[in-house]
Amino acid sequence: MAKGKRTSALRKTSAKAGTRPGAALAALIDDLVIGNRILYDQNIVDGYGHISARDPRDQAHFLMSRARAPGLVTGADIMVFGLDGEPIKDDGRPVYSERFIHSEIYKARSDVHSVVHSHSPTVIPFSVTQVPLKPIRAPFFYPEVPVFEIRDAGGWTNLLVSDSALGAALAQTLGQNSVALLRGHGNVVVGPTVRVTVYRAIYTEANARLLLEAKMLGGPITYLAPEEAALMEANLAKPRPGHGHDRTWEMWKAEALARAGKGRR
Ligand code: MN
Repeated sequence: MAKGKRTSALRKTSAKAGTRPGAALAALIDDLVIGNRILYDQNIVDGYGHISARDPRDQAHFLMSRARAPGLVTGADIMVFGLDGEPIKDDGRPVYSERFIHSEIYKARSDVHSVVHSHSPTVIPFSVTQVPLKPIRAPFFYPEVPVFEIRDAGGWTNLLVSDSALGAALAQTLGQNSVALLRGHGNVVVGPTVRVTVYRAIYTEANARLLLEAKMLGGPITYLAPEEAALMEANLAKPRPGHGHDRTWEMWKAEALARAGKGRR
């Protein structure tokens, strides 16, 4: 390994890089592991679903667990993949069949540094009805939340995005948005960091639940306006300890680790 080169690349690409070589990478892997545990603890993923992060050492690589339930992922499970969706070093460990969701989105979107794919339950009805998933508490739903119809891309399939062509079609449907629904299957959420993407995945599920409840009350619904959403996004984007994503991440992390230690549920 070209150690000097790797260290300078890390220093250049991450604000978190301290003086310790590899500090940014170690911090990212830590966030990725915690992200897996949080998504499980918050009921966004069950035994299925996955989260990845773009590799700070090489924009054409991304990091993701070997095929394993997210609630059990540790740092040793994290593998490096290329934009063809295949492991950089194939060590025989099983890999997720839907890894092409991640590879094709990283290929299409240079601004994306983390991807979550889940089957979070309250979102799925919006993928099989004509009711659009519109924003109440999720400003990142703008410009829109498109629905990926896998029949258009692959005819009759088992619904899994299990090759590059299906992944590319999904990435095309996602476009410049932050969330896309997969008809009868689940959703994909993207963001600039692992922490923001985890927050978005949790709030996508929460917004779906709120919308369902608002519809049960009946009558017209007042959605979040694009102007309000832009102001909320700007506010969340400010790095402020104790506010925004920082506050929720700290809480979700503590809860996930505490419950994991107690053999939760
Ligand atoms: Mn899936």
